[in-house]
Amino acid sequence: MNFIETRGNDGTREEEVSFSYAILNPSASFGGLYVPKELPKLDENFLEDHINKSYKELAYNILKAFEIDIEDEEINKALNLYDNFDDASNPCPVVKVKNDLFVHEQYHGPTRAFKDMALQPFGSILSSIAKKRDEKYLILAATSGDTGPAALNTFKNKDNIQVACLYPDGGTSDVQRLQMVCEDGKNLKVLGIHGNFDDAQTALKNLLASNSFKEELQRDGIKLSAANSVNFGRIIFQIIYHFWSYIQLLKQEEIIYGEKIYLVVPSGNFGNVLGGYYAKQMGVPIEKLLVASNENDILTQWINTGVYDIRDKELKLTKSPAMDILKSSNIERVLYSLYGAKRTKDFFDQLNENKIFTMSKEETLKLQEIFSAINSDDKYGSKIIKDFLDDGYLMDPHTATCLKAYENLKDKDLKTVIYSTAEWTKFSPTVLNSLHENDISYSDKEALEIISNEYNAKLPKSISDLFSSKVNHDLVIKKENIEEEIVKFIRD
Ligand SMILES: *Cc1c(COP(=O)(O)O)cnc(C)c1O
Repeated sequence: MNFIETRGNDGTREEEVSFSYAILNPSASFGGLYVPKELPKLDENFLEDHINKSYKELAYNILKAFEIDIEDEEINKALNLYDNFDDASNPCPVVKVKNDLFVHEQYHGPTRAFKDMALQPFGSILSSIAKKRDEKYLILAATSGDTGPAALNTFKNKDNIQVACLYPDGGTSDVQRLQMVCEDGKNLKVLGIHGNFDDAQTALKNLLASNSFKEELQRDGIKLSAANSVNFGRIIFQIIYHFWSYIQLLKQEEIIYGEKIYLVVPSGNFGNVLGGYYAKQMGVPIEKLLVASNENDILTQWINTGVYDIRDKELKLTKSPAMDILKSSNIERVLYSLYGAKRTKDFFDQLNENKIFTMSKEETLKLQEIFSAINSDDKYGSKIIKDFLDDGYLMDPHTATCLKAYENLKDKDLKTVIYSTAEWTKFSPTVLNSLHENDISYSDKEALEIISNEYNAKLPKSISDLFSSKVNHDLVIKKENIEEEIVKFIRD
C-alpha cells in the first residue's frame, strides 16, 4: 500500500511513496506527514478469528493487511522483540479493575513506558531497511523523558543507524536519566543540555536546519531520519494494540461480539489515540475515543470547541510530563482523514501564521462524533492514585488522568478500557506523594524503595539495576556545542 501527504504534494516529491520510503523520510510536502492512501479492509471475522491467537500473530496479520514493503523475515524479527516483554504471549495485558473498567497496561517492555510498544519493532524495521539499501542514518532525538530511553534501547547496536539523543539536564526523572546515560552501544550518543526541554528541542530544530551540519553529514554519507511519532512506522504498531483491547474483552467474555466499548487515552502528541482512531475506522467496535489531557488542555479545548488556539498558552510543567504539550503533531492525521489535504494545509498555515486555527461548526461536530475530551489537574491525579491503591491497584500519574474521562464523558453504559502508558516506577516520587498525601521531595531511589516495601509492589530488575549501573554518557554541554559534539561522534 502506498502513502500520500496530509497537506498535498508540492511537485518536488513523488505523489505516492512506499511504506519504507515514508518511514525513512517522514517529512512530507509543506511540512505535512505521510498517511496510508486508504486503510485496509479486514475480513468480517477478523476480530473473532484472533481470540485464540497471540499478540504477534495479530500484529503480523495487521501489518500484512497494510501490504507494507517489508519482507516477512524482517517483520518476524521485529515482532519477536515482544518476547522481551514481561509476558511474551501477552505483552500488553488488559486487566479488570472494576465491573465495567479495564486497564490496558502498555508498560511491560524494557523501558517501562508505552513508547516500547512501537519503538521496539520500529527500530528493528528501520535498521533492516537502511541496511538493505546500504544507507546510513542518523536519528536525532530530543526527549523530555520517555522517548529517549525507548529509542536508545531499540537502536542500540543496530546496523546502519546512529542515534544522538538530547535531554535537558535536571529536566527528567532520575530513572529516565539513568536509562539514557547508562545505555551502552557504539552507535549511541547521549548529551545532557544546560536548559529545559524547549531548549533541547529548539537546539535540535536548529541543527536540522543547519547547512554546515548537513554538509558534514553528507561528507560521511549519512542521512537524517526521525523516530518521533510523526513517523508512520511508529503509528502502524500503535494500531495493533487497540485491536488487542477488544479481542481481550471478547476472550475474557466481558463483551459479546459487536458490543461497543469506550477507549480512554492519556494524550500528548496524539499518536496513541490516533492508533485507536485507525482501529475504529478498520472496524473495531469503538463507541468513542475519550481523550484525557492534563493542565495543558489544548487537545481538550480543540475537541470541545473546534478551535486550536495557542496564542496565550504557555506550557505548564505537570506531574504527567509526557502529556505536557502545546503543539500536538498527530492531530494532523485526523484532520486529513476527516477534512482532506487542502483543508489540512489551510489549518496549519493559519496555525503557523496566527497561532490559531478555527474549524467550522459542521467540522467540529464531525470530530465530536468520534472524540470527546476532558482535562484534569495534578491534585485530581493524586487522589485517583490513592483511591485506586486503596482498592489494590497501583497506577502512574499519566494513567490517573484517564479516570476523569471515565467518570464524566460516557453517555452510554458500556465497558471502558483506559490506557496505562507508564509503570509507577518511572514516576515514583509523584506516586509516593499521592499515597502519603504529602509533598516531601524524594529521590527516585528512595521513593522506589519505600513504595515497594510498604505496598509490596514489584520492582522490575531493569529499574533497580539502574542505580548500580555504569554511566556511559556523562557529557552535559551548552547548546552552542551540540553540533560539534555530534559531528565528533559520527566521525568516531
Ligand atoms: C508519550 C506518552 C504519552 C503521550 O502519548 P502520545 O502518543 O504522545 O499522545 C502519555 N503517557 C506517557 C507515559 C508517555 O510516555
